[in-house]
Amino acid sequence: MTSQIPIKDVTAKNKQPITFVPPAQTGDPIHTRSFKGLFRNLRLSGAGALILLFFGTAWLNWNGHQAVLWDLNAKQFFIFGATFWPQDFILLSAILMIAAFGLFFITVFAGRVWCGYTCPQSVWTWIFMWAEKVTEGERHQRVRLDAAPWSLNKLARRGAKHGIWLAVSLATAIAFVGYFTPVRELVSDMLHLQLGTSTAFWLFFFTAATYFNAGWLREKVCLHMCPYSRFQSVMFDEYTLVVTYDSARGESRGPRKKSIDHTAAGLGDCIDCTVCVQVCPTGIDIRDGLQLDCISCGACIDACNSVMDQMDYPRGLIRYTSERALEGKPTHWLRPRLVGYAAVLLAMVGSLAWGIQTRPLIDLDVSRDRSIFRQNSAGEIENLYTLKVINKSQQSRSYIIDLGEPDRFKAQGLGEVTIAGGETAVVPVRVSRQQPDGRAGSQPLQFVVKDLQDTDSQVSDASTFVSPAAR
Ligand code: SF4
Ligand code: SF4
Repeated sequence: MTSQIPIKDVTAKNKQPITFVPPAQTGDPIHTRSFKGLFRNLRLSGAGALILLFFGTAWLNWNGHQAVLWDLNAKQFFIFGATFWPQDFILLSAILMIAAFGLFFITVFAGRVWCGYTCPQSVWTWIFMWAEKVTEGERHQRVRLDAAPWSLNKLARRGAKHGIWLAVSLATAIAFVGYFTPVRELVSDMLHLQLGTSTAFWLFFFTAATYFNAGWLREKVCLHMCPYSRFQSVMFDEYTLVVTYDSARGESRGPRKKSIDHTAAGLGDCIDCTVCVQVCPTGIDIRDGLQLDCISCGACIDACNSVMDQMDYPRGLIRYTSERALEGKPTHWLRPRLVGYAAVLLAMVGSLAWGIQTRPLIDLDVSRDRSIFRQNSAGEIENLYTLKVINKSQQSRSYIIDLGEPDRFKAQGLGEVTIAGGETAVVPVRVSRQQPDGRAGSQPLQFVVKDLQDTDSQVSDASTFVSPAAR
């Protein structure tokens, strides 16, 4: 790789003024050059883990269920053996809040590394770039192919590229839709051309969204569409690690022979090879200073380090550093803001773990039939209730249903009930009592459901017992 870096014999006295304009400013297509290095390996690891997680969990089975499935018809969310119901939405909201705080924490610490390493938009763009490289060749070959007139060779290469893009997009859409409808049934229905209209629509939608976002829009999503990129810069402070070009060390930039004493010639360490721009997925020149468009992917660091190695200059002309460190001021990572985010994050993760651990696996919903309060043959006032008892576990369980204060009321329909895992039992209950003083009114009433296999597990729901005025 490094042998391709152009090194011209230019000294300080005849060096050219800076005329290079990066593609982000010219609007030219961005053809990134591939480069090896530490940050590329980190990026591959992050992307690999995310891809494995995304596709793996869609196809994995766990305790006889798809490991992760949001069953919209049954209104149940299965995740690795646990079942969540609409009543557990508070826990899911907590997970989203934790993710948001995690993102704030990372951004304050190291800028847009989420964008550069693990954001799905970036990860899928890297996959599509890989397909581009496999089918159309390295950067210079792609530039040549772009400029070349249409031929069989160009058609075949472009066709292969778009074929891979579409295949990846379809696989992505299947996995994504498979989180909401059992993925194996989905694929079987697809193969037998038996897809429902809405499933077919969402498959088409996500295939098209992946294809256009990762294939065509790419960095434009990060620059113009992603709301996070707009506001995250306000989270930066002078201690935040950002990808920075050390201009004090790099300027004056200019090509030179490796053998010359460039300092004596009035040159800095930057040989103006523009490799850092050629590898940049957003087409910017980091030497112009910190820019909103930089997604902190570190590709330019790998590229420039490689150039520095070739020139026998120290590495790190472009590096992750903070504004303070660059100015030579003392810097410390544990500042109050970061500690605050970390503390909130830990507290939220702890509360979520506690909430999940202690959440009851039974749910009870009581509704009173408002139209019926009548006098029975014994002269008592009678109200009717419908109890919905939900077994939120994945195994069959037996429960006992009772009144919270059995002495105050008589009831019919209470007792033991066995409910299959993930099912709901509808239990009609008749409650009666003597009308105490002949006046209309309502008394509080409570129903309790206890798990017979786990006596610590019980839920209750309050209702009212309504008496009419005596005639
Ligand atoms: S910063 Fe590094 S990679 Fe970029 S032009 Fe200068 S020497 Fe080349
Ligand atoms: S400037 Fe460097 S770190 Fe920023 S997006 Fe471009 S290659 Fe990635």
